[in-house]
Amino acid sequence: MKSSSIRFISVLVAAALFAAIGLWNEVNTWNRLLTSSNNRLVETARVIGLHTDDVLALAEQPLADLTLKAQAATGYTSARRHVLDEMVRWKQTSQVVRSIDYVGPDGRLLGSTQASSTVGSDRSSWENLRFHRQNASEETYIGTAIRDGSDDEWFLPISRRISAADGSFAGVMIATVDLDRFFRFIESFNPGGDSAYFLMRGDGQVLMRYPLRPQGMKAGLADIDFFASQAKSGTEGNHQYDAPGGRGPRMSGYVSSEQTGVTAIATRSRSALFHSLLVRSKYPWMTMIAAYILGLAITFRWLRQIRLREIGDQKIAAREAEFRLIADASRDVIEKITIDGRRDYVSTAATRIFEQAPEALVGTNVLDVADQQARDDWQAALDRLKAGSSSESILMTRTRSDGSKMWLESVLSRVNGETNDSPCSIVVVTRDATRQQLAKQELDALAITDELTGLFNKRHFNQQLGQMVMRNAPMSLLLFDLDRFKLFNDTYGHLAGDGCLRDVARAIRETLQGTDAVAARYGGEELAVLLPGYDEPMGLQVAENLRLRIRSLQIAHVNNQPHGVVTASLGLAALDPKHPMSAEALISAADEALYRAKNMGRNQVVSATADLARPLAAASA
Ligand code: GH3
Ligand code: MG
Ligand code: MG
Repeated sequence: MKSSSIRFISVLVAAALFAAIGLWNEVNTWNRLLTSSNNRLVETARVIGLHTDDVLALAEQPLADLTLKAQAATGYTSARRHVLDEMVRWKQTSQVVRSIDYVGPDGRLLGSTQASSTVGSDRSSWENLRFHRQNASEETYIGTAIRDGSDDEWFLPISRRISAADGSFAGVMIATVDLDRFFRFIESFNPGGDSAYFLMRGDGQVLMRYPLRPQGMKAGLADIDFFASQAKSGTEGNHQYDAPGGRGPRMSGYVSSEQTGVTAIATRSRSALFHSLLVRSKYPWMTMIAAYILGLAITFRWLRQIRLREIGDQKIAAREAEFRLIADASRDVIEKITIDGRRDYVSTAATRIFEQAPEALVGTNVLDVADQQARDDWQAALDRLKAGSSSESILMTRTRSDGSKMWLESVLSRVNGETNDSPCSIVVVTRDATRQQLAKQELDALAITDELTGLFNKRHFNQQLGQMVMRNAPMSLLLFDLDRFKLFNDTYGHLAGDGCLRDVARAIRETLQGTDAVAARYGGEELAVLLPGYDEPMGLQVAENLRLRIRSLQIAHVNNQPHGVVTASLGLAALDPKHPMSAEALISAADEALYRAKNMGRNQVVSATADLARPLAAASA
């Protein structure tokens, strides 16, 4: 599998793990919330149950006393009056009792602490009456809640049976307790909007519901069967059931009293609890999801960059390989160097051209050369490239291991980096330029040489003369002309004439060897010599030497009498820096002197500065 896929999958797995941990944490929180909520429901039920026990115990006190008194008074009207007085007294002292009714065995009210209740009114429909008539038990009975017809006040009727001396049914003593008392108690601990509280008798009969509902006391308490079956033995616990009408699951806590058999139930809807969890963890979750998305986005961007860099690296590697392939196939040495001259790559042609293995050269610096000139050239070229030049070339010489000299031509080209800030590198192509250089030197020499004599040609001579005149330093200019050369040609032939010219030229070269003199063929059989640094006397001396040397060649020339050998006439013009002259003036002065030398009999030297013809030496032997 590709490394990029592995990275991608790893990130996904990490992201999934991260999300799973978040969810797991939230599930834990939810479970903790459920447990604590269930515990709180049981606690609430316990408190309501204890309160109920207290209220019922308080309500039982007058009943216990009054039933005994009523039993004793059965049949005596005056005694019954005493019972009624006692009822009023109990009503005044009791903290919980709303009213106390004394009902006869026929269901008719014998007396009541309630002023509005009419003596003689029928109470036989009351559940309490029915129970005690059929039940000989002396136990306290709690009847289902009854609504006072006049307003929305509900009360619980709590009663005991009055038995005659023979055990027969002699009536019922009933104490009523306002449900409002329970409601106020429940409200004292701020119940939530979705909470509901119930009191349930052991037989499953609901005695109280908070909050009040017009539908009655049972409204909203489903699964009564469960609570009725659990409520037997002073148990407590939690129970979850579905609220009627599809209003979702409800949670409850219940505690049943051992004393009274009444079960207190506190309930709330599970969705409300869940909603509270959502509200509580909304911002943490939103923050986490935002961080999560941001984290994923950053990670994927980072992965993409890695991938792009990898692709870039692959491309560079491929290009590098291609470069090496081309470089190694080349006859020229191809090097890649840094802008500071360090060799990063050297192609195989180095073995032939530098006589060094490429591997040995990699890492060395092009500036590490013994030759000062070459080092300066390299440094200058690198500096210019650094300054922005795109290409430079350097010509160098190198001595081969066999001692022979070779020419190397290097072309340096700047290669810009991949990006703006990556450093540029330099590709150096070096070729063996020895053959071209030698050919060029040869051509250069040919361009300034006279073919026949091997002396310089007139063009080169004029160039040199121009430069020297400009310098205005002492100098002598000699012009030669062979005497009666036309006759030489006529006598010995043109080819012999050429040979004679060559011999004379060689003699001149030999005479001037080791000096700075520039000797040239100036015209057909006219020659010229420049003597830099020679004033007139020195120049005349050299001219005289040359004249004698030519004559001493002893080239037969029968028609050049009286000598019988080839001779030459010379005109000299010297440049005195005190009187600067142009090249043309100097030449014409020398030419003038030569003309005079001819006129004065040939085979002599004449100086242009001489007022009169002044042969240095007579045409002597
Ligand atoms: P003078 O003593 O007055 O110089 O007599 P001259 O015959 O030498 O006269 P001039 O210098 O005028 O004659 C030049 C002659 O030199 C003409 C020509 O026949 C000959 N000449 C010029 N160039 C060449 C050359 O390249 N080869 C040969 N063989 N002869 C040349
Ligand atoms: Mg001539
Ligand atoms: Mg001549």
